[in-house]
Amino acid sequence: MVDFALSGEQEALRELAHDFAQREIRPVAWEYDRDATFPRALIDRAWEIGLMNLYVPESLGGAGLSYLDGALIEEELSWGCSGVQTSIGCNGLALMPLLLAGTDALKRRYVERFTQEPVLASFCLTEPSAGSDVASMRTRAVRRGAGYVISGSKCFITNGGYADLYTVYAKTDPDAGHRGISCFLVPREAGVLVDGHEDKMGQRASNTATVTFPDVEIPADHLIGEENDGFRLAMMTLDRTRPGVAAMATGIARAAFEFAVAYALERVQFGVPIAAHQAIQFMIADMATEIEAARLLAWKSAVLIDRGERNTLLSSHAKRFAADTAMKVTTDAVQVYGGYGFIKDYPVEKLMRDAKIMQLYEGTAQIQRIVIAREVFEAARGG
Ligand SMILES: Cc1cc2nc3c(=O)[nH]c(=O)nc-3n(C[C@H](O)[C@H](O)[C@H](O)COP(=O)(O)OP(=O)(O)OC[C@H]3O[C@@H](n4cnc5c(N)ncnc54)[C@H](O)[C@@H]3O)c2cc1C
Repeated sequence: MVDFALSGEQEALRELAHDFAQREIRPVAWEYDRDATFPRALIDRAWEIGLMNLYVPESLGGAGLSYLDGALIEEELSWGCSGVQTSIGCNGLALMPLLLAGTDALKRRYVERFTQEPVLASFCLTEPSAGSDVASMRTRAVRRGAGYVISGSKCFITNGGYADLYTVYAKTDPDAGHRGISCFLVPREAGVLVDGHEDKMGQRASNTATVTFPDVEIPADHLIGEENDGFRLAMMTLDRTRPGVAAMATGIARAAFEFAVAYALERVQFGVPIAAHQAIQFMIADMATEIEAARLLAWKSAVLIDRGERNTLLSSHAKRFAADTAMKVTTDAVQVYGGYGFIKDYPVEKLMRDAKIMQLYEGTAQIQRIVIAREVFEAARGG
């Protein structure tokens, strides 16, 4: 039976996240956006009240939440500010390969610390010449003595400037395409260099940095999973994090929708609130439907993973649709505000800028469609 009802615990989690977003994130969100302030104090607070490192299992001292629980939290925090949520949620992405394939010893040594203090980790896949085309990465990991030497550079790394730990993808067999990539755990103190902070269109509170590994030596047991299995591990990771990105996009869209509804009731033109004009009503109606659909896709893709089922198709459906919805809804919210929507003193232009990244990171809108088409045709061929 399909049951869309949340449990009492899930309602409480959602309320906790909403309360935090409303009381602590919203009051500073537009200021942090303007000044590109890294939200260190909010990260510490989120950690304190249990809204970080959601998927770390109880055996390692974590909350061991489900992916549906995570989606509920991520929507609320993004409703507050998606740049802040990207900073808070990034550990989920960065620690995932370790949780999925790390040895018990490696998990105990590194993951437990995240439950004891609000430290940060980054996920290092993208390179200047290897974005969507992950297999063309140039970062190398060469076996030397009792360890590996990592050399190369990663760009656009969320929390890169503030992380203590990096999960890094590097070529261990340069001639084997995506089958020659491995995933490593690299502590910052091993000699990682962090360079600069991107000045971004949106999500300006989040830190996006270039991270360089200048012949960084790490012990051999810092390999996560099997050698040359890194691409598969990255894809497994994204299957688990894309439902959360879809939930974040839903949160941005919902925030813009609420502002648009309130403004439509208040703004008078031609002697009536603009909410009385059918053109505005139809925009609001489409927003409401699409947000509802985006949320359901995010939830379904999360629930499949919670049940131990493969969710590659659903997580791409969810991420693609919710990201496009966030872009459309925020653009229409600016339209509802008219000229005021274009002015920074009003809230919706930030949301429109923030929404754009949803169609870019963790696989672009085009890459999601490639995944969806591949899955559809494979199923049609009986594969
Ligand atoms: C704010 C921010 C934070 C990020 N955080 C992280 C992070 O923490 N860790 C990390 O590893 N990366 C991160 N990224 C990188 C992000 O995942 C990449 O930017 C994204 O994967 C796209 O890669 P690219 O920018 O090189 O674009 P490209 O791959 O060069 O794509 C350019 C355009 O071509 C399209 N395209 C490419 N290939 C195809 C194809 N085969 N068919 C059709 N269209 C195609 C794309 O969809 C896009 O529209 C972040 C990026 C940003 C901007």
